[in-house]
Amino acid sequence: MKALFVTGTGTDVGKTHVAAALAQAGGWRYWKPVQTGVSGAAGTADFLASSDTARVRAVAGASAAPHEPAYLFPLAAAPDQAAAAAGLPAPTVHALAASFAAIGRNGGPWLVEGAGGLHVPLNEAAETWLDFLRATRLPALVIASPALGTLNHTTLTVRALQDAGIELCGVVLSGPRHAANEASLARLLPGVRVHAFEDDRAALAAFVAAAPTPEDEVETWLALDRTAVWHPYTQHHTAPEPLAIVGARGAFLETAQGEHLLDAASSWWVNTIGHGRPEIAAAIARQQRRLDHVLFAGATHAPAAYLAQRLLRLAGAPFEGGGRVFFSDNGSTAIEVALKIAYQMHAQRGAPERRLFVSFEGSYHGDTFGAMAVARSKDFHGTFAPLLFDALSAPLSLAAYADLLDAHAGRVAGVVIEPLLQGAGGMRMHSPEFLRGVAALARERDIPLILDEVFTGLGRVGAAFAYQRAGVEPDLVCAAKGLTGGNLPLAVTLARSEAFAAFLGEDKAKALLHGHSYTANPIACAAALAALDIYEREDLAGRARTFEATYHRWIAAEAPALGLFAPRALGGVLAFEWPGSGVGDYFHAAGTMEQVPRAARRRGLFLRTLGNTVYFMPPLATSDAELTEGLAALGATIRDVLNSRAEDRP
Ligand code: PMP
Repeated sequence: MKALFVTGTGTDVGKTHVAAALAQAGGWRYWKPVQTGVSGAAGTADFLASSDTARVRAVAGASAAPHEPAYLFPLAAAPDQAAAAAGLPAPTVHALAASFAAIGRNGGPWLVEGAGGLHVPLNEAAETWLDFLRATRLPALVIASPALGTLNHTTLTVRALQDAGIELCGVVLSGPRHAANEASLARLLPGVRVHAFEDDRAALAAFVAAAPTPEDEVETWLALDRTAVWHPYTQHHTAPEPLAIVGARGAFLETAQGEHLLDAASSWWVNTIGHGRPEIAAAIARQQRRLDHVLFAGATHAPAAYLAQRLLRLAGAPFEGGGRVFFSDNGSTAIEVALKIAYQMHAQRGAPERRLFVSFEGSYHGDTFGAMAVARSKDFHGTFAPLLFDALSAPLSLAAYADLLDAHAGRVAGVVIEPLLQGAGGMRMHSPEFLRGVAALARERDIPLILDEVFTGLGRVGAAFAYQRAGVEPDLVCAAKGLTGGNLPLAVTLARSEAFAAFLGEDKAKALLHGHSYTANPIACAAALAALDIYEREDLAGRARTFEATYHRWIAAEAPALGLFAPRALGGVLAFEWPGSGVGDYFHAAGTMEQVPRAARRRGLFLRTLGNTVYFMPPLATSDAELTEGLAALGATIRDVLNSRAEDRP
């Protein structure tokens, strides 16, 4: 273990005593970053001598080699109050984490002692030691008194750590033994290691040393991944080792090697609100305790009802006054549902011959059979072509599309399109005029327009839904990825009232006979409601339009010099083809493209490519400064790869 955070269930429970004993037993260095309640004038010998650091040095001698505190305040109070009383800047998690990173490179292992308990505020922004632990991912050792009051305080402290996802090394009861409390704690905290410490330093050190360390765990589960897991879209025979991700916060992923990589693929395009939002954690925890899951036929619950209402409001005019929301689990199933609704609607209106779906070249609608059938992508699903039902693929040209509709007049069940942005097909963008043309030509022929907003919906392209940016009115809309902000799987298919009405009648067989076990999972719905609050409060659709403007500036400044082909931006998405390749020749630069994610990682980016297409799409909650840094890293990545190729040449 490289470091351990020592916290207490309150003040004066023996944190420093235990830390000193561990340091004395050997092997640990000591750092108490924030010290309050020091006496004497600042900087004098008295002042330093009254600190816990001095006490540990006195007990443990040189072996503890303590590092001096980053903050020393005279007032014995919480750090925010002590800093205010001294008229000095209060500690921040960012500054403390940076100091720890610097110290961590310098020997160790380190015992890092907090000031007071976990919820003690560090500053006026009410950051606490828990935030510090989330940022540094240090495992925690909880020091408690063995005596009266320990059961409540220790349980609360351990639960706070567990709820925050922080590794718990164990609990040390420091003082005269209390067998009854030890037994009670074992019952209250099953699985938590508890050690009674009176004066046996060697036993204390052995207890700490026996904790499973996070590093050991990574090795263990990576070995299991190699032998037991089948990854999506992965050729296991040749694929490099996957990145081992141990955490995520805000716009960044943290690897087992301690790198912080900007999540430039938004975790397969799902993350909009940033990782690890406490609002979502709270919503999920609350809902799980109230109602985790119940079947959704013949039963219902508040989160689904409220979510349906909010989505219909967001979807606006076409769905107001009678539109409906059908829940499923992922983008592909949302598409399957839309296809079934469209076909069954025609069948029940007496036109079962309307069974051809029209999609557009380069489209992708998911990996299930119906979704594969309508997209007709050779690159993704060529293997399965013999198994797919008939569908029509239109070029991205209005004239050719109109001809196709006319050639199959009376037999088209629906037109399916990813509005404004084809994602997996290579981040291909089309104009609002084109989308309006597609919608108008379908409307003229009374063909339902099915929008696949699985990727574009919920703010990604600068509006709640892409069709709102184009002023188009669809009949069915599928949404998924960003629905829970990137936290839990959930999908919806929105249907206009006319479509819903076609399923009403006495005959049960006329109902939509489709449903998944986890339809409208209440926890996922609660996460989505909390994510919608964040969308609105932080105007994430507006953020996406700000990203778009920033991307256009980056393109103007960088694309010509780098030789990027077809650079383009829409909302939160920036994309271009690798220099030298053209749109559509998917695997043109295959060898080179394998270098791109590796080079990006060295520049602090987690980047994926689609054939020759490079795209950059961090969560919409990424700050301006992070976005600017990320774009600089993207430019540097491209230069690195281009330069390394130049060096490779004979
Ligand atoms: N439609 C579009 C436009 C998508 O981008 C995706 C996923 N990339 C899907 C459908 C399928 O969604 P899922 O992976 O959640 O099944």
